[in-house]
Amino acid sequence: MKEKNLKALDLPELEARVSSWGEPAYRAQQIFRWIWKRGETDISRFTDLPRHFRERLIQEGYHVSSLALIEALHSRDGTVKFLFRTASGHEVETVWIPDGHRRTVCVSSQVGCALKCRFCATGLLGFRANLPAHEIVDQVLQASLYMKERATNVVLMGMGEPLLNWEAVRTAMIMMNRDLGLALGARRITLSTVGIPDRVRAFASLNKQFRLAWSLHAAIQEKREKLIPLARTYPLPELLEAFWTYYKAHRRWVTLEYLHLPGFNDRREDVEALRRLVRKLPSKVNVIPFNPSPGLPFRAPEASETLAFVERLRKVLPHPVTYRVPRGRDVFGACGQLALQRPGGSDAH
Ligand code: SAH
Repeated sequence: MKEKNLKALDLPELEARVSSWGEPAYRAQQIFRWIWKRGETDISRFTDLPRHFRERLIQEGYHVSSLALIEALHSRDGTVKFLFRTASGHEVETVWIPDGHRRTVCVSSQVGCALKCRFCATGLLGFRANLPAHEIVDQVLQASLYMKERATNVVLMGMGEPLLNWEAVRTAMIMMNRDLGLALGARRITLSTVGIPDRVRAFASLNKQFRLAWSLHAAIQEKREKLIPLARTYPLPELLEAFWTYYKAHRRWVTLEYLHLPGFNDRREDVEALRRLVRKLPSKVNVIPFNPSPGLPFRAPEASETLAFVERLRKVLPHPVTYRVPRGRDVFGACGQLALQRPGGSDAH
């Protein structure tokens, strides 16, 4: 059946559709602009399209979908966590993170997650569904419309493993990047992954300067396997090679995300393994203190512990080491906390 939701069509598909009707191709650009630049969902208000054309669209059952906002939770620190309902009836979370001049949107690529990383609350939900490309992009649009501000950056760091929903994620990144729509620069869109070699190479071969972050968390293979079950399938040397293709293609550093689990991955041998790995891959390290969630078997470090760990890394690593200040913990909006939980402990289901 033909897709009748105009939001689900990226520009080339809209163009093909429009020209099959004998309309000029720029009509597709007008439609795309109304949907993604202006956030309009009512086709009758696409006022630069001829009336007969709008009427025809509506008569033929065309429409523009929108994620339904269920709830927006405002953190004390300005972070806002959104809960949306998708067209297929699932719930998905998105986080708006203001920081100086930046307004970053952290989007989900899947509902739940299949990977079951030991430290991540989303893993406890299990995998529920893949999101279609337009519902990944729509998270950015709906969050911006609600905040009445444009997003400046997007990170694919919400629920799910983006490379396990690669086709949709790739289309979503390309859609977000289009000038006629959200116009987010490729360098302001970051994909974060535990690493799936083929897909990392596919990401590297895109002809765009999208950024790449690798959830490393341990540079010692056995420890990494304890944290991330998928690490057993793809050992570190194979992953390093895949991430290297990204560096080679774009001359851009990979960000290594390193969760701080005090007493587990901050020992002398961990620092030494990380030092050796960083020598092989031009990368900066971003240390993330573990954010606790009900049901996760680790202890959250004190800020002073994590800062001390960062200082130790800075002494031995040749490249920059940054520290990610947890944001939105009070609304369960911080990294690894997206599991459809509400403050106070009640669950959505
Ligand atoms: N699946 C992708 C993207 C989602 S997770 C990935 O793994 O990269 C986004 C980031 O949050 C990852 O670096 C992830 O490891 C981190 N994270 C997960 N659980 C966390 C927790 N409890 N505390 C802090 N960061 C966490």
